[in-house]
Amino acid sequence: MPSRDDPVSRYLARLHDELISVDAGDVATYIPELARADPRHFAIAIATTDGRVFAVGDAGIPFTIQSVSKPFAYAHAFACHGRADVLDKVGVEPTGDPFNSIVLDDIANHPYNPMVNAGAIAVAELFPGDTLQQRIGAMQNALSRFAGRELDLDEAVFRSESATGHRNRAIAYLMRNSDMIKLEPEAVLGVYFRQCSMLVNCRDLAIMAATFANDGVNPVTGEAAMPAEFVQDVLSVMHSCGMYDYAGQWAYEVGIPAKSGVSGCVIAVIPGQIGIATYSPRLDSYGNSVRGVMACRRISADFGLHAFCSRTGVESVLRHELYGLHIRSKRVRTLAERAILDRSSGAICIIEAQGRLFFGTAERLVHRIRKVAANATHVIVDFRHVQGADRAALRLLQEFTGVSENPNCRLLFSHILANGPLANLRSALAGSDGVFQAVPVFDGLDAALKHVEEEILRMHKLAAEDKTLTLPEIAIFQNLDAEEMRLLTLSVQPKLTTFESGQIIIRKGELGKTFFAIVRGSASVELPSIGTAGRTVHIASVGKSLAFGHLALVEGQARGAQVVAETELVCYAISIEALRAFGRSHPSIYVKILMNIIGDLADTLRATNETIRALER
Ligand code: GLN
Repeated sequence: MPSRDDPVSRYLARLHDELISVDAGDVATYIPELARADPRHFAIAIATTDGRVFAVGDAGIPFTIQSVSKPFAYAHAFACHGRADVLDKVGVEPTGDPFNSIVLDDIANHPYNPMVNAGAIAVAELFPGDTLQQRIGAMQNALSRFAGRELDLDEAVFRSESATGHRNRAIAYLMRNSDMIKLEPEAVLGVYFRQCSMLVNCRDLAIMAATFANDGVNPVTGEAAMPAEFVQDVLSVMHSCGMYDYAGQWAYEVGIPAKSGVSGCVIAVIPGQIGIATYSPRLDSYGNSVRGVMACRRISADFGLHAFCSRTGVESVLRHELYGLHIRSKRVRTLAERAILDRSSGAICIIEAQGRLFFGTAERLVHRIRKVAANATHVIVDFRHVQGADRAALRLLQEFTGVSENPNCRLLFSHILANGPLANLRSALAGSDGVFQAVPVFDGLDAALKHVEEEILRMHKLAAEDKTLTLPEIAIFQNLDAEEMRLLTLSVQPKLTTFESGQIIIRKGELGKTFFAIVRGSASVELPSIGTAGRTVHIASVGKSLAFGHLALVEGQARGAQVVAETELVCYAISIEALRAFGRSHPSIYVKILMNIIGDLADTLRATNETIRALER
């Protein structure tokens, strides 16, 4: 239960205070028992799609649900009989007539819509069951599932309504006459009158409305009260017909699908967000609660909740754009590789998308990709900050990736994970065999970048061929001549060592006595994650001809990170102590080696600075 000082409760309390002095309108009397309602009662409640309820005023006072039961019965009819049968029985046209009007559509001879009595009586026949008792039970269960608790019948109201409901009887007989209903009118009315007489309170109604907002799942119990696919059907009809002959004005002014009942209740639904309910028994001439209408009008205006108030801002889908010049994969590169990537990577563009993908945002994203692709060799679209894609977005992205527009530009997607929010996009992009034909999809941006870099290096014939390097080919020994190399090997005696993939080579915190130079395979440098205990963050990937663990040569301290073999790994293990001793007898060679190491570190630092600059903008 939210505390009373949260902003929603405070807002509702103020609204309640303002409207409580309104005493216009009259309590319904045509059902004698309803005349007993206390006209002073007033409650407003809002339930969220994550199941929190904010309520002010007399939110626990019970009253009969009356016509607010209609959308729920309609929803249940869809669930039981499917769309075609339900639409065949009742139309979806507003009547512009009062709720209890005796009009049927001249042509199809069926009731105009399920929100007026005629349509609701026809829908009441659709509760499944062979006997009246079974159909009543089905109705009670259906409404209770929406409320999230067992709802009871108000016997007195039911009897009062049954005894005086001759107009509804007339409607039912008229429909029986034209075969619109098949059961005997009394059998149908026996369900309908009880349906209207189910006891709820304002809090229940907010939860019931929030169930519509939450794709048919009761947000408090987590139970599905109806299939999600029919929510749109129900809300559409509520939008155009829910407030009877005031519906047009309501749609114009308030713009929220809603339903009112003569007991003085109103519900309204903001799909995906909240359900709103009000209770105040005094009615206007349309049969809608005076304070309820005012409260909904105010809530809609104060928060800009009108259905046609645009609140999307599709351009926000473009979070950030980066170029490969500024950001590299975590693969540590040799001097020769870096030279090539420096020349080519300006034409690698990374577009970071964000938010939710629907028609507007997906179209904006595709538009941007196409524009950037005109001048790029590679476009990587990173979906890390995207929280979901709807049907329209899937359709557009499939359509887009199905054609290769610019043969000179390669498109890659990253961060579309099988167990993430874009799992649906992942399966839409994969062929039936699970292979991504149109666009390669990578788990993370780093993997995509690495892939692009490798492609570029391959084009420049610098691909990592499958051969084991010799010691002089190791980067930190470059520029040493044959004689210097001979002296070094002689006194330092590097040892060729093999590690299995996944083997930990260096542990964080250990004292560093050895460093390694890779002649085959690659190793991953990792640090423990700051965020999640037990997880590690991949810092860099070190490949052939490069060294790791060599900081110990300069620092002689505890290891700062852990290094794990990424593949089967062959390296020279070189003793720090032996190399230092060699340095004392051959200082000029040692300086050359140290200069190579410093050059390497300077380069790493420069690349890191570039990345920070790109990310900070
Ligand atoms: N039970 C009421 C009737 O049929 C329902 C009408 C209403 O709430 N608008 O008259």
